[in-house]
Amino acid sequence: MLEMIKESDLKVLITEEELQNKIKELGKVLNEFYKDEELYVICVLKGSVMFTTDLVKHLKMPLNMNFIRLSSYGSGFTSTGKVNAVDISLPNLNGKNVLIVEDIIDTGLTAKFLIDFMHLNFKTKSLKFCSLLDKKSTRKTDIEPDYYCFQIENQFVVGYGLDYDGFYRNLPYIGYLETNE
Ligand code: 5GP
Repeated sequence: MLEMIKESDLKVLITEEELQNKIKELGKVLNEFYKDEELYVICVLKGSVMFTTDLVKHLKMPLNMNFIRLSSYGSGFTSTGKVNAVDISLPNLNGKNVLIVEDIIDTGLTAKFLIDFMHLNFKTKSLKFCSLLDKKSTRKTDIEPDYYCFQIENQFVVGYGLDYDGFYRNLPYIGYLETNE
């Protein structure tokens, strides 16, 4: 049984305004990069749902939205270190521009799993990986995101899609639990 975190125990790490401003900026960069080319966006559920839906509102090219579901975190704060494909049903992405949208890169194992999966199954025209957050210091692979919005320290964050035992995904900001360590 996990101990419940109270919202009042959370400290704000990234405000709603900071998130929205950065996402708008990233939208501009992507519009510039893809111009009017068709783009297949892959939202990695459940964590990147908020980020993806806000980001795509800024994108102007013909856009095809797709959703896949993976899991690597068990419950609580710690990663299982193993990525499980829960639901990967995708259209044929051969010859397409593909942008994978993740909530956070931590060890990079999920990103590696996804990139390997894409290379194994499709010959895409281009494949880019974009993450809202980048926890650079905990990386266990050589994967780097092509685009990210914020780099953060090694701390467990919740909000804006990121959960603790299924809760707090609805918060419009990114928060963390202050510990006494
Ligand atoms: P990785 O495979 O890079 O270690 O982890 C990726 C996944 O772990 C993310 O998509 C996310 O679901 C989860 N994760 C990693 N760090 C955090 C964190 O600080 N908070 C939450 N809520 N999930 C995290």
